[in-house]
Amino acid sequence: MRDLIIVGAGPAGLTAGLYAARARLDVVLFEKMSPGGQVLLTDIVENYPGFPEGISGFELMDRMKRQAESFGLSIEMREVLSFRFDPDLKAVMTDKGEEQAKSVILACGATPRKLGIPGEEQLTGKGVSYCATCDGPFYRDQEVAVIGGGDTAVEEALFLTKFATRVYLIHRRDQLRATKVLQERVMANDKVEIIWDTIPQRILGQNGVEAVELKNVKTSQLSTLNVQGIFVFIGYEPNTQLLKGILDLDKLGFIRTNAEMETSVAGVFAAGDIRSKNLRQISTAVGEGATAAFSAEKYLDSLSG
Ligand code: NAP
Repeated sequence: MRDLIIVGAGPAGLTAGLYAARARLDVVLFEKMSPGGQVLLTDIVENYPGFPEGISGFELMDRMKRQAESFGLSIEMREVLSFRFDPDLKAVMTDKGEEQAKSVILACGATPRKLGIPGEEQLTGKGVSYCATCDGPFYRDQEVAVIGGGDTAVEEALFLTKFATRVYLIHRRDQLRATKVLQERVMANDKVEIIWDTIPQRILGQNGVEAVELKNVKTSQLSTLNVQGIFVFIGYEPNTQLLKGILDLDKLGFIRTNAEMETSVAGVFAAGDIRSKNLRQISTAVGEGATAAFSAEKYLDSLSG
């Protein structure tokens, strides 16, 4: 039986892996896709300390992965199918078989939230996107809409101005949630038009997005906006479907922990976007990953008396 299994190779999981490997724990990290997590969806990261000119999301995560591996962290591409947490054994069932350990760090992050409106599902990949870095270049000289008012929506709207002739930022309130520096930047950008107090109701198009039907939430007035792309950035859902009924979750489904990243089950820790908390940043995920690995090490020490 291993000392520790880490699930998820975003900033939290890779940092936990770096610290666990340096502590010489018998550790393995499972990731279902390529290592990097949601940061891979970001073009340039500007607020991770140490990179005054910014760094591409891909490069930052590649560096984190290589650093953890250089200390012996083993990263395996495996999808987790279920968890079983007994007091003396944590079993993680994956698509490549079961692995057992004395402790587990859950760093499985979150997934983009869907609008849940007609046309969204049918046109996903045909004009509806959840990743501007991946799909932005397809919209050169076209008009696109971005839905949302948080950091992601504003950052990605700004990124899309590199390609699109016009970016409509559609927000359900009359104030953005995004941090002030991003608000200032988006307000100053001539290519971005903010449509306030508005929600999308229906996405129109046959083989590709042609338009979006909008509703002003204050006046109830309906309108149609012709765009070729719709980028949805309305927050994230935690990847905790397999943990319901096993761990204490908050009402939105994020894992509750204490400041030591301990969950409601001894020997199980959580770090990064999957945790119940107020600030979801690469810098916070990294700190939590380090704390979770330290706590796992203490827990393993306590087991061996
Ligand atoms: P978020 O902060 O939860 O914002 C989601 C936005 O979508 C809000 O403006 C919200 O409106 C809107 N929204 C939610 N549900 C909606 C619906 N059904 N229809 C229409 N609009 C809806 O999500 P996020 O921007 O993805 O950010 C997630 C976390 O990552 C945050 O903690 C953020 O600070 C962090 N982040 C940081 C950076 C950075 O520091 N550079 C970059 C990206 C993300 P309301 O405002 O009315 O609630």
